[in-house]
Amino acid sequence: MSDITTDPTIDSTTDPAIGLIDKHGRHIDYVRLSLTDRCDFRCVYCMSEEMTFLPRNQILSLEEIYKVAQAFTELGVNKIRLTGGEPLIRNNVMSLIKDIGQLPGLDELLLTTNGSQLEKLAGPLREAGVNRINISLDSLNAEKFKTMTRTGKLKQVLKGVETAVAAGFDSIRLNAVVLRGVNDHEIIDLLEYAMGLGINIAYIEEMPLGNINDHERQDTVFSNEEVKELILERYAISPIDMSTAGPSRYYQVEGQRTKVGFISPVSHNFCESCNRVRVTVEGRLLLCLGNEYSTDLRQLLRDQPENIELLKQTIVKSMDIKPLRHYFYDEEQPQIVRFMNMTGG
Ligand code: SAM
Ligand code: SF4
Repeated sequence: MSDITTDPTIDSTTDPAIGLIDKHGRHIDYVRLSLTDRCDFRCVYCMSEEMTFLPRNQILSLEEIYKVAQAFTELGVNKIRLTGGEPLIRNNVMSLIKDIGQLPGLDELLLTTNGSQLEKLAGPLREAGVNRINISLDSLNAEKFKTMTRTGKLKQVLKGVETAVAAGFDSIRLNAVVLRGVNDHEIIDLLEYAMGLGINIAYIEEMPLGNINDHERQDTVFSNEEVKELILERYAISPIDMSTAGPSRYYQVEGQRTKVGFISPVSHNFCESCNRVRVTVEGRLLLCLGNEYSTDLRQLLRDQPENIELLKQTIVKSMDIKPLRHYFYDEEQPQIVRFMNMTGG
């Protein structure tokens, strides 16, 4: 099943014609940049109620984040996703987004947001060159939404979703994390909401990132297979072949514009086709979501702020430590203590 080249003679490379390649022969052309670890929500699966955020001097400045984006695009990365924390609550974030949107070689600029700022920012984001956005939405019931996000207001997010639809992005996808006994009864309601707006929806299995105090994660896992069965009771869906989908598998709802994605990091291992890396807002280049392999880019950005070539060389070298796969819920592997807001979802 695996198509990964494990030939040890393959070296990570920076030949611009080939782009970034790791030790296992995987092309890395997609980077997720976290713009902040902070958030105006406290989703129960993502954060604990009391969170300590990073002090200002430990986070990359907007200029430093821009340099990281520039280095990656010069190494052949053509797709960048901005995330967090909540990326849109960072001060002056629109100026950074505009600058990144103009980087040569960038084909797609994507954003993941909780939607709280979209009523105000959807239009400017589209103008800044953001092509596609993912908006997290786990419930359509105001009380449940409040329970799941602890501080979020459903009305504000729904307004944001509708403003984004009107702004004309290439595509919009809702992201719903399904928790057993919490929002699993809303799977169809969420799908029908997406269908009503002609947008896509992805159901996400909860990942064991960070020690949370709200629930035992293993009790709330709701597999995407179950989600699919529930949908099939009501709607015909057929698989679509999308080679760039990464960990998502997509289905078309027959007779509708809506596509349904299933993101199954727990029940399906998608590592063999992994084409992405992440940079946390501390400047840690994370080679894998489910491992701690990383390289510190911040020190380098601060010691030699003008040396973009060294930054690029460091990124290339880091490809050597991109692991073959992650091991969630494997007793022999250490638990990941990093929260999703630190990782950059
Ligand atoms: N704040 C933005 C948002 O909520 O869309 C962007 C960052 S958030 C960390 C990115 C995505 O990760 C969201 O769709 C969220 O639902 C998802 N997420 C957070 N913690 C998760 C977890 N433990 N398992 C699976 N998905 C998670
Ligand atoms: Fe904030 Fe997004 Fe995490 Fe929710 S999932 S707490 S909105 S970063």
